[in-house]
Amino acid sequence: MGLEEKLPSGFLLTTVEQAAGWVRKASVFPATFGLACCAIEMMTSAAGRYDLARFGMEVFRGSPRQADLMIVAGRVSQKMAPVLRQVYDQMPSPKWVISMGVCASSGGMFNNYAIVQGVDHIVPVDIYLPGCPPRPEMLIDAILKLHRKIQGEKLGPHRVAAEEEAEQAAMKS
Ligand code: SF4
Repeated sequence: MGLEEKLPSGFLLTTVEQAAGWVRKASVFPATFGLACCAIEMMTSAAGRYDLARFGMEVFRGSPRQADLMIVAGRVSQKMAPVLRQVYDQMPSPKWVISMGVCASSGGMFNNYAIVQGVDHIVPVDIYLPGCPPRPEMLIDAILKLHRKIQGEKLGPHRVAAEEEAEQAAMKS
């Protein structure tokens, strides 16, 4: 017999951690931050046809201080890398990063001195999304996978330690 069947109807059991995860995943605010052609697909995801608002994230924030998700949409030039890092540093914790498209994840076709060969050299990445460009459905799928990750995250020092570990790994690479 499942737990739900044992309980009288109208009761919901949870933990503070699960409740916090549910609230966080249902109110992720992306930073307004587009770098290249992938950004067009990101913007399309927020428009009426794909309607990101369905997932509690219709507001792309103009200030990084009000955002907790960075979608790196496009190739990262060496000149833009410090700016990207500054935007990331200005976002409050907890925060997450989606690397959108092959250029952001690995440099893609731009295997040259001007382009960072993977944004994980600059910031820790939670989800890598392949494609050139990924379609809005793929971005939404990545966001839903990120939601599952957020839901399962621990509160408190575990989260901070994991973030620091990921950042140190990014700095070493
Ligand atoms: Fe442009 Fe393709 Fe690179 Fe995206 S992955 S920034 S669409 S070239």
